[in-house]
Amino acid sequence: MKIEKITEQILNKLNSMPADELIKWAFENFGDRAAIGTSFQLTGAVIIDLASRHVKKFRVFTIDTLRLHPDTYNAIKASEKKYGLTIERFMPNDDTLRSMLERFGEYLFFTDKAKQEYCCFVRKVEPNKRALKTLDVWITGLRKDQSDYRKAAPKVSIIEEDEGRKILKLAPLVDWSMDKIWKYIKENNLPYNKLFDMGYDSIGCIICSTPLVKGEAPRSGRWRWFSKDDDKKECGIHTNTGTRG
Ligand code: SF4
Repeated sequence: MKIEKITEQILNKLNSMPADELIKWAFENFGDRAAIGTSFQLTGAVIIDLASRHVKKFRVFTIDTLRLHPDTYNAIKASEKKYGLTIERFMPNDDTLRSMLERFGEYLFFTDKAKQEYCCFVRKVEPNKRALKTLDVWITGLRKDQSDYRKAAPKVSIIEEDEGRKILKLAPLVDWSMDKIWKYIKENNLPYNKLFDMGYDSIGCIICSTPLVKGEAPRSGRWRWFSKDDDKKECGIHTNTGTRG
């Protein structure tokens, strides 16, 4: 199928599909032009497992910022082993990374919000844009109850990337609660990122994500040194708004 052929009627149909059907539809209709993008949060473990039950061959990619936790690298390996996958790694551009480090140093993200966003752009957003160039359907693990900002996340949306190219962005687990995700993982004995057993609720780079204390919102552990009020706790990968929700 071509992305241009996706009508409002098809979008409505997709929006009403359960997670497994939506994932199956994406790979059946777009093949290698569809991919699961995961940073090895718990949702990634569930989406990969659902895909493995319904599709013979499917693409998974991750953004390796080169600053991930060892447990995240272990989760990547465990997933590859269980499903016989080769997870595609998209990494920062060598020259841009070197230039950023020479200009601002390794720990620029402590300085101010703009430098944190620049670091996230170099290490995450630009590699993610490169990944998106290889696909028409992007399957993500976004969920509404991850933060106030994500409450409006649509299950199905058409986003525009550079030069107006359209991509169908799917969030099959958008309405799943954390309890439902844990239940699925435990019942099916899935490999998952062990940081979730150590108080983490949202995993990013090694310094910028920290465990939560009781009662904190899920993404509070990100960039703790910035204001809680004006910070959406987003790195920029999911701030592209869809044209439909
Ligand atoms: S999470 Fe931190 S280290 Fe990772 S890309 Fe963003 S600012 Fe840089």
